Amino acid sequence: MDTNGKGFSTRAIHHGYDAGEHQGSLNPPVYLTSTFTFETAEAGGAMFAGEQEGHFYSRISNPTLDQLEQRIANLEGAEAGLATASGMGAITSVLWTLVAAGDQVIIDKTLYGCTFAFLTHGLTKFGVTVTPVDLTDPDNLTRAITDQTKVVYFETPANPNNRLVDIAAISRIAHAQGAKVVVDNTYATPVLTRPLEHGADIVLHSATKYLGGHGDLVAGLIAGSAEDMQQVRLVGLKDMTGAVMSPLTAMLILRGLKTLELRVERHCQSALRVAQALEAHPAVARVYYPGLASFAQKPLAERQMSNFGGMIPFEVVGGKAGGIALMNRLKLIQRAVSLGDAESLIQHPASMTHSTYTPEERLEHGIAEGLVRLSVGLEDADDLIEDLMAALSQHNAIAAE
Ligand SMILES: *Cc1c(COP(=O)(O)O)cnc(C)c1O
Repeated sequence: MDTNGKGFSTRAIHHGYDAGEHQGSLNPPVYLTSTFTFETAEAGGAMFAGEQEGHFYSRISNPTLDQLEQRIANLEGAEAGLATASGMGAITSVLWTLVAAGDQVIIDKTLYGCTFAFLTHGLTKFGVTVTPVDLTDPDNLTRAITDQTKVVYFETPANPNNRLVDIAAISRIAHAQGAKVVVDNTYATPVLTRPLEHGADIVLHSATKYLGGHGDLVAGLIAGSAEDMQQVRLVGLKDMTGAVMSPLTAMLILRGLKTLELRVERHCQSALRVAQALEAHPAVARVYYPGLASFAQKPLAERQMSNFGGMIPFEVVGGKAGGIALMNRLKLIQRAVSLGDAESLIQHPASMTHSTYTPEERLEHGIAEGLVRLSVGLEDADDLIEDLMAALSQHNAIAAE
């Protein structure tokens, strides 16, 4: 179907699929197959040599994944997409493809815990230099970048503290040195920010989160130029990680994408109300939500995001002990890592998702020990606020003792 010029949701539902070509099946068929037969031995050889198009083994390509890859590419405004078994599969497949021993990767100071671990403990074992820089000020990149810098890597908003990075400013500096810019867009989703439109080269996702959206799968997605995606497919994905997505998972993400815009709108609406209610409570010390007037990078948020997302990191009075006590008093909001689900989830980064950082590294990288991270789900905002206020009212009593 030609979805050129159509709106986001129309493209998320229809792009790249024509029921007429599939016996009228409204949904794309799921090709549950590991391998594909060759009409002749010569045709098989030609496919392996890259001289003939076609699917021949599902670690390299599969029609169901192909459908999903076209869709994410379209939504991110990219030439091509690539599906992986997890967000970490996406991140590692991209970086194993782009860097070699002797190269430098510059990363923002705040990254998802396992990404930080892969970069600083994993890649560095193979002769790659990894340099954490505070990219919230682009001048810091100008000072840190060298001829060896091959990749500048960051998240915006960053997990867990919602720090923002100016994609356009960072991309200008990186490109002047010939480095590629890779952005983890898990938090914003292409509904709120499309990093390639701001100059980034590759965008990737933990599709486990908002893109899948229902907490029932683990997956990753990548988008960028056709050339870059072909390289990542044939090097990082096929040979170095083998982190291939199952066709059943691809089907679930295609289903999730149909409601992505609708869900993200609701996540944003509710999150703003919850953030305001938290900020107004005396037992809450700080709330880091880009939609609040108190948010330090509000002008950048307004420039780079069309709305402010569903994630609320905050600190309560009483630091870590206070945060843990609050979590344990919640009845509706579930204590769990992950994010972007219909269910609201709360976790404590220092002891959970960001325990891969040492306490000294967390201090240095701006991840407060007392921070709790709330993923605002799709329940009624009134019920979420009631749950939080009930837990916080007990907090007051304890704090006053
Ligand atoms: C969860 C997450 C990842 C890792 O994704 P998995 O699907 O769990 O492998 C990477 N980046 C961010 C920002 C995340 O939140």
